[in-house]
Amino acid sequence: FADRDGLIWFDGELVPWRDARVHVLTHTLHYGMGVFEGVRAYQAGDGTSIFRLHDHTRRLFRSAKIMNMPMPFDAEELNEAQRTVVRENNLREAYLRPMVFYGSEGMGLRADALQTHVIVAAWEWPSYMTPEARELGIKVNTSSYTRHHVNISMCKAKANGNYINSMLALQEAVRNGCEEALLLDPEGYVAEGSGENIFIVSDGVLYTPELTSCLDGITRNSVIELAQECGYQVVEKRITRDEVYIADEAFFTGTAAEVLPIRMLDGRTIGAGRRGPITRRLQELYFDVVQGRSPAHAGWLTDVTDR
Ligand code: PMP
Repeated sequence: FADRDGLIWFDGELVPWRDARVHVLTHTLHYGMGVFEGVRAYQAGDGTSIFRLHDHTRRLFRSAKIMNMPMPFDAEELNEAQRTVVRENNLREAYLRPMVFYGSEGMGLRADALQTHVIVAAWEWPSYMTPEARELGIKVNTSSYTRHHVNISMCKAKANGNYINSMLALQEAVRNGCEEALLLDPEGYVAEGSGENIFIVSDGVLYTPELTSCLDGITRNSVIELAQECGYQVVEKRITRDEVYIADEAFFTGTAAEVLPIRMLDGRTIGAGRRGPITRRLQELYFDVVQGRSPAHAGWLTDVTDR
């Protein structure tokens, strides 16, 4: 993945992909304290637009604040950096990865001379799931790994180290023949997927876990707004795994996963065992918005060129 053409924004400069290197004593590599974002740009109209760029950048700054990492750039500079990497790499659609990390200025947990560095990379990353999965849904297992406790890891931060837990859960799910994991919080209530928020539909009402230990997903927020605009009631509450078993529909949301139906959890078929009608409607609305077909939500799109 490192040996390819392209440009990466690195501390304010565009550098060739192959030269965007760090030292093996990079602090974040050792202890996992860093923060990042996952952002998507879509072809919208005759241009390319980044979906909810300002909201992603805002979450990145909030993550850095939670981790007490000083930010060497302001939000405007990072918004520009993200537009630039999509444009300069000639990407029509892209996944963007801004990341904030400590360099190799010191070692050990007490290191005090650390400097914060920022990269923004962008590449083509079609869809997280096949078109069939988008329509038929995926198989999920409840993870044997518990999602973070709110006082062990900071759950509002999209922090590098938090993803050890996600990877353990995802690897286990795949080993068990599933496509994703559902993680429960330390009290046993439904939290989220390895990199997605979850919704269920019961009797026409949408339910999603409160923002206690799950990430404040931007897709989650978008889907709540789209559902309410359609007149659906959306309730944020504690959800148990058996509520998911007996739901009419269930789906994941995330920048990478977009709106992804869940057809089975722990061997129990959910609803009709394929994408349900409300999931389908929200999925279509979501794609309309990100691909620029929804004038009412044009404010969520930022063109990568100045037009
Ligand atoms: N939960 C976790 C743990 C995630 O990593 C992500 C992906 N950022 C999400 C939820 C979904 O967030 P978003 O919709 O902002 O991508």
